[in-house]
Amino acid sequence: MTLVSPVAAPLSSSESSPFLAHNYHPLPVTLVDGLGSWVTDVEGRRYLDLLSGYSALNFGHRHPALVAAAHAQLDRLTLTSRAFDHDLLVPFAEALAGLVGPLVAGPPMVLPMNTGAEAVETAIKAARKWGYEVKGVPDGRATIIVADGNFHGRTTTIVSFSTDEDARRGFGPYTPGFRIQPYGDAAALAAAIDETTVAVLLEPIQGEQGVVVPPPSYLPAVREACTAADVLLICDEIQSGLGRTGTTLASELWGVRPDLVTLGKALGGGILPVSAVVGRADVLGVLTAGTHGSTFGGNPLACAVGLAVIDLLSDGSLQASAAALGAAWGERLDGFVADGLLASVRRAGLWAGLDVVGPVAPAPWTGPVDGRDLCERLLAVGVLAKDTHGATIRLAPPLTITPQDLDLATDRLEGALRHP
Ligand SMILES: *Cc1c(COP(=O)(O)O)cnc(C)c1O
Repeated sequence: MTLVSPVAAPLSSSESSPFLAHNYHPLPVTLVDGLGSWVTDVEGRRYLDLLSGYSALNFGHRHPALVAAAHAQLDRLTLTSRAFDHDLLVPFAEALAGLVGPLVAGPPMVLPMNTGAEAVETAIKAARKWGYEVKGVPDGRATIIVADGNFHGRTTTIVSFSTDEDARRGFGPYTPGFRIQPYGDAAALAAAIDETTVAVLLEPIQGEQGVVVPPPSYLPAVREACTAADVLLICDEIQSGLGRTGTTLASELWGVRPDLVTLGKALGGGILPVSAVVGRADVLGVLTAGTHGSTFGGNPLACAVGLAVIDLLSDGSLQASAAALGAAWGERLDGFVADGLLASVRRAGLWAGLDVVGPVAPAPWTGPVDGRDLCERLLAVGVLAKDTHGATIRLAPPLTITPQDLDLATDRLEGALRHP
């Protein structure tokens, strides 16, 4: 087998192409190959992937069980549309209900979609319809409470309630019916509930915002306020769910059972987009034939991969090992804060938000000045990560990473912080 062939001319970055829209600012690396926690670029350099596709690659690149499931299904049946049933649709729904059903507040139902944003849209539509048909909110007046700093996707409705100006500006007119409250403040949220409120939509841990973990009393108090006012609690676990926090759902960390959960990213095993809403059957049951749907939602290939993903999580051992690995890793990261190499670290399971010290540090500070700078230094030493909101980087190693590889990546991080 030949190694990666040398490239004749330097490959232009996606940002310099006149043919690709410029909606991302990637790090200067072009990947050709990935296996497990490792990826290889066009020049044959290898990197440890500590981004894991924003948790879409929770099981690493090309996990053998997931690739095998996809290959087998490619030789059988790939798409039917929902006009016809296929033999994996009900097994997928039952398996996902088996995994996540016990973690939600009531007998579960599953509604499969494709992308995360579609799952969030589905939850919003179900909550509104439930509000009108079951709770009795006057037609057209339903409100949903969301948190500042949220990230729920990129559709016009979802960016309508974003507090990130880059995500929102220029895309109006905005969808009404959302009330933004400070993240982590359960009293403010409870006070914002009124007779029009049908749901509260939250990330139990805010991923895109930089792995922001709320105060321990927050989610239980939100659950209580929702229950008291007959308001649905929708937890967006598209990034936090499916093992990332050392539990199947992040909500479990606080013993909270949401009414609806959105899942995505890792549900597609790093192979294709697969998302779903899992939650109370009496809520998802308001969606009837013709009221909502998706051509590709729950397609055979998605269900085959999704079933294999659920199988990987079904005995809880991957979640347990992520928790154990994350605890030891987290202590090391906390040590970097104690040593003055990082300003702060927030973490849960195998997930961490790191704030760089930045240019305010006393001279002669030669460490990274912002998140992008740290990511470029990590790239140079063979570790992939991505910055968010200026001073922060987010680390999300594959849950399947070996302790040795995680140590190696953390050694390289320490080197990038200590020896710039
Ligand atoms: C990524 C993400 C989404 C959107 O998922 P897409 O598949 O990119 O549409 C929604 N919510 C959260 C919490 C996410 O992290």
